[in-house]
Amino acid sequence: MNAVKNSILIVGGGIGGLTAALACAQKGAQARLIERARAFSEVGAGIQMGPNVTRTLFAWGLEKSLRDVVFTPKRLQVRDTQSGAELGVLRLGQRSVDVYGAPYFSVHRADLHQVLLQKVVASGAAELNLNCQIDLIQDHGDHVAVTGQGLPADFAEKLTAEAVVGADGLWSHTRHYVLPQTPPRETGLLAYRALISTQDLPEKLRTADVNIWIGPKVHAVLYPVRRGEFLNVVVIVQGRASEPLEDWDQSAHRHDLNLAMGPLHADLRGVLDAVGNWRLWPLCDRPPLSGPQEMAKGRIALLGDAAHPMRPFMAQGAGMAMEDAAELATCWSRLDLPLPERWHLYAKARWARNARVQQKSIRNGQIFHMSGPLKWGRDMAMKVMGESLMDVPWLYAGP
Ligand SMILES: Cc1cc2nc3c(=O)[nH]c(=O)nc-3n(C[C@H](O)[C@H](O)[C@H](O)COP(=O)(O)OP(=O)(O)OC[C@H]3O[C@@H](n4cnc5c(N)ncnc54)[C@H](O)[C@@H]3O)c2cc1C
Repeated sequence: MNAVKNSILIVGGGIGGLTAALACAQKGAQARLIERARAFSEVGAGIQMGPNVTRTLFAWGLEKSLRDVVFTPKRLQVRDTQSGAELGVLRLGQRSVDVYGAPYFSVHRADLHQVLLQKVVASGAAELNLNCQIDLIQDHGDHVAVTGQGLPADFAEKLTAEAVVGADGLWSHTRHYVLPQTPPRETGLLAYRALISTQDLPEKLRTADVNIWIGPKVHAVLYPVRRGEFLNVVVIVQGRASEPLEDWDQSAHRHDLNLAMGPLHADLRGVLDAVGNWRLWPLCDRPPLSGPQEMAKGRIALLGDAAHPMRPFMAQGAGMAMEDAAELATCWSRLDLPLPERWHLYAKARWARNARVQQKSIRNGQIFHMSGPLKWGRDMAMKVMGESLMDVPWLYAGP
C-alpha cells in the first residue's frame, strides 16, 4: 500500500478537477489527478464567468493570466428573436466591479482550461496522470484504494489515498460510490454551438455584449471570447439527439436548426448565417440536489457536474464547480477533523446553493421559451422592473 497522509486523488481533469487540484494543493494537500483522455483539452466553445467565479479565480492567483485571454462584456442585453425588440439590459463591465467587487468575463473554454493547467503545472500543485481510468474505488475506513486502467507504473496494482474527489463530469463513474446508479436526465433540449471569427462578421453584427435572444421554444446566446477575436454562439432548441447522449461534440446540420428556430429577426439571422460549422450538444441534467448526502459519502466527495449537472441557463455550471473546489479545499484544511467529517462539512456548505442554481436554471429555460400570454407577461415584467429583474445578487455576491 502506498497511502500518503494528506493525499487526495482527483478523478477528472476538467475545469472542476483542475481547480480542485489547485485549491487543495494551496492548502497543503498532496494531489494526484487522473484524467481518462490522452491529452488535457476542452471543446471549442465559450463560457461566461460571473463575479462570484472571477473573485475565486483571482484568489488563486490567476488574475493576470486570465486577463490575457478573456473578454469583458459591457452589458447583458435581452432581445426578442422575432421582433428584435430590446427586452432588458443588465450592465456588466465596471458595474460588476463596483457592485460585486469582481468583473464579469467571457472566455474560450480551452483558454480557461489552459490557464488552469499551466498554474497547476507551474506551482507543482498536483501530479497529473493522463490516459488513466478508474474501475473500482474501495473506501477502507482509514484510506481509499483505487484500481483502474493505465495507472502509473508505481501504482500498477492499487492506488491509495486519504480521500477521493469525483470531478469526472456528467457521466461520472465516481458518483456510483456515493449514490445509487441512475443515468443523467435527458432534457429534450439541444444546444447548437459555433465560433465565428469576428472579422468575418459585418460591423453591424459585431457585439461587445452578451446578447440573449429569447423566443417561443428557442433562445440564442452570443458573446465575444478570446479578447474579442471570436463570437461564441449557442442556440437552444427543442429536440432529441440521434447520436449517443454522452457525445458533447456531435456533427450538426444547419437545415435542422433552421427548421427548429422558425422566423428570426434579421440581426440574429445574419449572425447565424455567418456560421461555417455547427456542432451539437444534447443537454442532460439531474434533478436539483436534495441534501448533503448527494455530494459526499465517507472519504469520497463529488464536485461540479459529477454532483450537480445543470442546464446552462444561468451560465454557472463551471462556476459552481469552481466554487465547490474552493470550499472543498477550505474543508480539507480542517486537519483537526477526521476526513469523512471534513467532506461532510463541504457537502453541507455547498449543496443548497448548487440546488438553487440548478432550480433557477430550469426556471430560466422555461421563462426564455415562453409564448402567448405568458410571453406578454414576461416582457411586461422586464420592462417595468428593468435591471433589478435580471441581476442575481444572491449568486454574484458569492457563497
Ligand atoms: C451549452 C452549454 C453552455 C455552458 N455555458 C456555461 C457558462 O457560460 N458558464 C458556466 O459556468 N458553465 C457553463 N456550462 C456548464 C459547464 O460546461 C460545466 O458545468 C462544466 O464544464 C463542468 O465541469 P466539470 O469539471 O465538473 O466536468 P467536465 O468538464 O465534464 O470534466 C470531467 C472530466 O473528467 C474526465 N473523466 C470522465 N470520466 C473519467 C474517468 N472514469 N476517469 C478519469 N477521468 C474521467 C473527462 O474526460 C473530463 O475531462 C455550459 C454547459 C453547456 C452544455
